[in-house]
Amino acid sequence: MSRVVLECAGLGKRFGDFAAVTDVTYALREGEAAGVIGPNGAGKSTFFNLLTGLHRPTTGRVVLEGRDVTSTGPHARVRMGLARTFQLVSVFDSLAAVDNLVLSVLRAREHPPAAWRFMLGRARAEDTLQEALAALDRVGLRGKAGVRVAELSYGEKRKLEIAVALSLRPRVLLLDEPLAGLSDGEIVEVLGLVRALRGELSLVLIEHKISHVLDLVERLTVMHEGRIIAEGPPDAILRDATVRRVYWGDGARQSTRRAAIGGEG
Ligand code: ADP
Ligand code: MG
Repeated sequence: MSRVVLECAGLGKRFGDFAAVTDVTYALREGEAAGVIGPNGAGKSTFFNLLTGLHRPTTGRVVLEGRDVTSTGPHARVRMGLARTFQLVSVFDSLAAVDNLVLSVLRAREHPPAAWRFMLGRARAEDTLQEALAALDRVGLRGKAGVRVAELSYGEKRKLEIAVALSLRPRVLLLDEPLAGLSDGEIVEVLGLVRALRGELSLVLIEHKISHVLDLVERLTVMHEGRIIAEGPPDAILRDATVRRVYWGDGARQSTRRAAIGGEG
């Protein structure tokens, strides 16, 4: 079995009295493509925020490439090879597509954030530009390099965000609902993009609809009310009685299930 690249143990996050994530233990192996599913509010994005360092956990620890990064900031984790995309697309609307990439390439080279804009002019003339264009090519946006992000469709912005993450040269990529808000055609394109990344890096993809990721990932983890309630091969997860209740059960049975799961959530 390949080595573990990212793991956490007993991970928990409370916001005041509310437990958003409780006792999550998880491991991602090198080259693995894994999925995390669960209803809205299950704690999936919070889980990613804990893995990437956006949030400090209330309990537990995070280990990246064998190093305890529990109190390491998000930028340092990026430099260690961990990149992510957000559920709501986060790119700079006022910049051309290619400049979003140039910024990100510069960031990956550890230039201080305050110098980004200042450096844009010079950097564009250098190899940074070639790297940025290659990343755009990768996601099929080469033809939109000079277009202001504000003019791009939501699907194109999503692809640009993936290109930004890739330009950081990650070994582990976390994608938070990359299909959210996309049209059917765009969903097919982004799924193709993710499929092409399989094997090249280790990735975890959060998705709301199981059907979208069934044939894309090797392993599915199901979160519900902050906890992992099931984990395994997608076809087994689809047949899992608990998962079926959480996803398709009626309200009464869901409440019974919540009571049965218990805990702080
Ligand atoms: P998911 O991504 O599975 O839909 P989230 O991780 O976004 O779920 O949220 C899980 C729960 O934690 C939700 O009830 C949400 O309102 C709450 N939550 C998330 N972030 C915060 C925050 N910064 N402050 C307070 N509550 C939060
Ligand atoms: Mg979310």
